[in-house]
Amino acid sequence: MVAQVIDGKAFAAKVRAQVADQVAKLKEEHGITPGLAVVLVGEDPASQVYVRSKGKMTVEVGMNSYEHKLDADTSEEDLLALIDKLNNDPAVNGILVQLPLPKHLNEDLVINSIDPAKDVDGFHISNVGLLGTGQKSMVPCTPLGCLMMLRDHHGSLSGMDAVVIGRSNIVGKPMAQLLLGDSCTVTIAHSRTKDLPEVVRRADIVVAAVGRPEMVPGDWIKEGATVIDVGINRIERDGKNKLVGDVDYASAAERAGAITPVPGGVGPMTIACLLANTLTAACRANGLAEPEGLTA
Ligand code: NAD
Repeated sequence: MVAQVIDGKAFAAKVRAQVADQVAKLKEEHGITPGLAVVLVGEDPASQVYVRSKGKMTVEVGMNSYEHKLDADTSEEDLLALIDKLNNDPAVNGILVQLPLPKHLNEDLVINSIDPAKDVDGFHISNVGLLGTGQKSMVPCTPLGCLMMLRDHHGSLSGMDAVVIGRSNIVGKPMAQLLLGDSCTVTIAHSRTKDLPEVVRRADIVVAAVGRPEMVPGDWIKEGATVIDVGINRIERDGKNKLVGDVDYASAAERAGAITPVPGGVGPMTIACLLANTLTAACRANGLAEPEGLTA
């Protein structure tokens, strides 16, 4: 079997276009322009790149972007004061604090000080609890993007066997909750899982979120399974820098029914879902119907 390639880049462009349409409608019919505030503490180069591209895409879909760049030695008190200000600013519908934070700042405390209704990353404990109990929440962007691609490919996921490799709070755990919410039978595998190859072999859906280059070979994949590769790993091959996923793409594509490439798979969906979450937050804040197909 040669796998169908799930084109995350094209899918993300479609999601952003849907968001842009809805934003235009919100402006025209209700005079509302959703706003996303991104807070960056310090000068981590990768974080600077992410923040820049988030700001650019926010503006491209017609939303307001507010960037707050703070020095690396900013005190916790000052950061919490800024978050409090953003929590109380009606022009701001979404607040994202770029992680990781410098070591002297308590990440949990900072995240949990964001108003859950504006927590567009979905990391606040209230949103984690709401998602875990099947209630309306803000859903972490990367797993939401994976879910959208799976729903688009399969229609219903009901009854499918899904294995999520990785149990992080930002990808693995919320991904498992979302798949459970869509009535999959879900296994969460991790670094201590016994016989990972056998666990993966029984899955109709494999979501790999580990951070180890090409650790899942093709012969672990059940014939016809759908493979969602969240991993982003920088490696050097043939003297060149390359991005690869957690799945060995070439061998997995020979057995899978469908597969996301790296790059161009899950990656572009993350920012698209951040914009979708900001739109959802703006609709909820104004008592308006949520955009269809852009939430979990
Ligand atoms: P993490 O380091 O927080 O978690 C990794 C998980 O993998 C852990 O739960 C660990 O138990 C598990 N693990 C480690 N070694 C293992 C092994 N040998 N077998 C099975 N499981 C093992 O990582 P994360 O933040 O969840 O990110 C995972 C990957 O996804 C990284 O490559 C990251 O760059 C990527 N990522 C991509 C996006 C995106 O937008 N596409 C977003 C977030 C993360």
